[in-house]
Amino acid sequence: MGQCFDRAKAQVGTDEAMLLATQLLGMSFTEVYTERARLLSLVDVEKLNNAVQRRLCGEPIAYITGYEMFRTLDLRVSPDVLIPRSETESLVDVVLELTTDRGRVLDLGTGSGAIAIALSKSKELEVVAVDNDERALQVCAENCREHEAKVEMVRSNWFENVKGRFDTIASNPPYVAADDPHLDEGDLRFEPSSALVGGLSGLEHLEEIISSAMNFLNPRGWLVVEHGYDQQTSVKEAFAGHGYTNIQQRRDYTGTPRVMWGQSSG
Ligand code: GLN
Repeated sequence: MGQCFDRAKAQVGTDEAMLLATQLLGMSFTEVYTERARLLSLVDVEKLNNAVQRRLCGEPIAYITGYEMFRTLDLRVSPDVLIPRSETESLVDVVLELTTDRGRVLDLGTGSGAIAIALSKSKELEVVAVDNDERALQVCAENCREHEAKVEMVRSNWFENVKGRFDTIASNPPYVAADDPHLDEGDLRFEPSSALVGGLSGLEHLEEIISSAMNFLNPRGWLVVEHGYDQQTSVKEAFAGHGYTNIQQRRDYTGTPRVMWGQSSG
């Protein structure tokens, strides 16, 4: 459990309380309304109390319940992985638009497996998911099992142990600058810094991926990356500097530039 931050500012919304109640008691929203006379066991009361205390300390709901929704998938999460974000759903949309059925796709830095599993459940693709953290790969494996997703998992520091070439490479790498004050706020305080911080500039991993991916793409293959709200220009320069063509970008649902992609010229 993360340390307790500013308890005076701590809040639990009714929607959050409801989520905790349904998830922890294994009840649906309807059951909570219709079974009003049901008495909770002491164990359940303790469970709820403990969950509310954790939430009051700022811990993300997803880590307390162990689940987060991503597209149509209810995904298992733990503090070993980033909590999947709706921004990243835009990246999945782009990959699905660019990739034909039966294509070979790589998800670099898969974490919970959100991108890889969403892709493999949406199209007949050969999906390989890479992460350098064994615990993250265990979470990914659990999600693959729960969703019966056929994903090949490889432990690798970016491309180090990756074999072969791909039609599309997708990545939501750590891209927050090490001194970004947002790291001390909200959910980010509880998430693994290895999944958030992209060196001093925030761009270190993005630059490494953009420069290496060309060697792992089929001719005319695509690299699709998620990036930070202020990294659009630098990421575009990196794509252009490494010889990608047809560079394009998409904003996330908040209107922030978030996804960029380019095509291998080889
Ligand atoms: N989108 C996350 C955030 O800033 C960062 C995720 C990442 O570094 N890939 O909240």
